Amino acid sequence: MLLLTPGPVMTRPEVRAALAQDIAPWDNDFKAVYLRVLERVLAVAGGIPGEHVTVPLQGAGHFITEAAIRTFVPLGGKILIPATGTYADRMVRLAREAGRVPVLLPITEDTPTDPLVVEAALEADPTISHVGVVYSETGSGLIHDAVAIGAAVRRAGRRMIVDAVSAFGALPMDISQQPEIDAVVFTANKCIEALPGISFAVAPVERLKQCAGQAGSWSLDLADIPTYNGRPRFTPPAQIVAAFDRALDFFDAEGGRVPRLARYTANMRTFYDGMVRLGLTPWLSHNRQGPIIVNIRVPNDPAWDLQRFVDALKAREVLISNFFNTPTPSFRVGCIGAIGPDDMSRAVAAMDSALKEIGITRREAACP
Ligand SMILES: *Cc1c(COP(=O)(O)O)cnc(C)c1O
Repeated sequence: MLLLTPGPVMTRPEVRAALAQDIAPWDNDFKAVYLRVLERVLAVAGGIPGEHVTVPLQGAGHFITEAAIRTFVPLGGKILIPATGTYADRMVRLAREAGRVPVLLPITEDTPTDPLVVEAALEADPTISHVGVVYSETGSGLIHDAVAIGAAVRRAGRRMIVDAVSAFGALPMDISQQPEIDAVVFTANKCIEALPGISFAVAPVERLKQCAGQAGSWSLDLADIPTYNGRPRFTPPAQIVAAFDRALDFFDAEGGRVPRLARYTANMRTFYDGMVRLGLTPWLSHNRQGPIIVNIRVPNDPAWDLQRFVDALKAREVLISNFFNTPTPSFRVGCIGAIGPDDMSRAVAAMDSALKEIGITRREAACP
């Protein structure tokens, strides 16, 4: 089966094989793996040992995003969140339910966030301490330039939390050049091509120390985790960490972030152009389309039924999401994971055939 969900992604058999062992999480053998993983993540983030630290947390991306908000934004504090789409909305909810005050910055969902608009919003409200940015908005497929937005946050003298869940390992990130960042957060199961179960934040050591105890939750206090000197605090998903370590071997063997981004971009281009050739309409224009996920507008044909399409594709060994996150109906296809352009071509052919099977004769978009 070709898994084209934008996380969890296709993994290599060697990565999955790393799960098949019993591990004692507090044993010295595992401790070495655990420390190595934290060091390797720090290097991918551009972190400087001693100045920045990798903080692991059990669980999904929402957990690490909430933990970063709780740790760095004080109770009752304000965080400005550009309304990039679904994942920005989720950050808003996480902040609100944690007793922080999210301030949604309206933007057009198919347009990259303008750093000057962020800067103006910060100047207009000096009580906002943080900006929360979704780097790669998995809802739309659009990239929001975390480097340029960060520069605006820095000029305004505020702090930034970056949801890099579907960006980390592919899009540029050098925390050593972005002193305004409090945390860059991501999970194992997207661009690093490992398995779900652990998430990470990379953060400045000094900021973590300053913010100790403000999370209002022991489990989600990122400042607490490094105080255990590289020992897991609570039972870690040890097999998942071992698989992550193995996935990093393949990341390094590929040549790291730049070649990985090039492969994902080639995947996206192959798929995007293939969809256009089939007469379908991508949700984003060619020049706005990011390399991580492509949304396709549903055909203007009464026979359209997303679940039937997904089932017909699955019968052709291609699995996509059976939901969408765009404002108008679409179907979503991930371009990330242990896959290449040939796989994307195979998906295009399968989609052509699946559309015919479910009786679609008009392929132009219902909502252009
Ligand atoms: C996948 C994703 C998340 C987190 O999802 P989980 O299901 O909690 O792991 C957060 N932000 C973005 C942009 C994502 O793509």
